[in-house]
Amino acid sequence: MALPPRLTDEQRLKALEKAAASRKRRAYIKSELKSGSLVIDNILELSKTDEAVANMRVRELLESLSGVGKVRALTLMERLEISPTRRVKGLGRHQITQIRNEFMKSSHAISPGKLLVLSGPGGVGKSTVAKKLREVGDFWVSVSYTTRQPRSNEVNGRDYHFVSHEVFQTMINNGEFLEWAEFAGNRYGTTQDKVEQALLLGKNVLLEIEIAGAKQVKAHLPQSILVFLEPPSWEELVSRLEGRGTDDEVRRAQRLELAQAELDAASSFDVVLVNDEVEGVVQKLIELAS
Ligand code: ADP
Ligand code: 5GP
Repeated sequence: MALPPRLTDEQRLKALEKAAASRKRRAYIKSELKSGSLVIDNILELSKTDEAVANMRVRELLESLSGVGKVRALTLMERLEISPTRRVKGLGRHQITQIRNEFMKSSHAISPGKLLVLSGPGGVGKSTVAKKLREVGDFWVSVSYTTRQPRSNEVNGRDYHFVSHEVFQTMINNGEFLEWAEFAGNRYGTTQDKVEQALLLGKNVLLEIEIAGAKQVKAHLPQSILVFLEPPSWEELVSRLEGRGTDDEVRRAQRLELAQAELDAASSFDVVLVNDEVEGVVQKLIELAS
């Protein structure tokens, strides 16, 4: 028999961290199943992209469903000829259909919500549009994590979750982010759990993030719609950044330099909208999600 690979201390630590993150994720999924927030169809869908879910044992999954105990789970698995050690990723197409038929008859199948990702150069008006959309549209707007210091008008938990570099790094190691990126010397990231849950519950979701992060989201969730917000003109962008008054001269110059590169990314987005007037942009986003 081949010997197990010898791991360095660092590799062992990484493997332990990954296993802990998977356990945490499985526990979360099971509690959502128990409470009925997620149904079996959501899990089968999720297993296509989520390693921790794909590696769950089928028995564990069935036992977590409300109203299904150990006995019913085992009886069902015997009837469907699923071995007791089978993992979700090992289910055949026929078995998936049978499990779906068994449980979806009584539970409400929810059609997943749309995921809109709003990007564009700093100062173009992304947060202004997101704020308005939260007020008038039926959208769940994700609150990001960042290592940036709060601005005077920002509230922790509403505008961002403000965390230290150490906390952010631990979240990366635990695989908590759907995407994250570095921007102007700070890190910004979107956690996976809440976004997935909102989508599976049929809510439309808006992420307001920079361009590298938007591309990561598209790679993980190809159904997402990437929207690029453009300023009516370069002069208007400069004037909005100055008018916002949140950055000193050095940071403003830094953000404008970044903005020049960011504007070039528009062509790789699904939709480009010019932010000449906030209400008009918000209306178009609502239309994109309907
Ligand atoms: P971003 O989130 O993209 O960095 P902000 O939402 O902070 O940009 O907007 C930058 C500034 O531009 C703010 O002062 C905001 O009030 C202003 N602004 C946003 N959208 C418009 C618009 N359509 N017309 C005029 N000013 C706008
Ligand atoms: P600000 O510091 O002006 O709030 O944000 C700087 C940039 O980071 C903006 O382009 C904003 O859209 C982006 N951003 C905010 N949250 C996230 C996030 O969770 N992920 C990524 N990739 N970018 C984000």
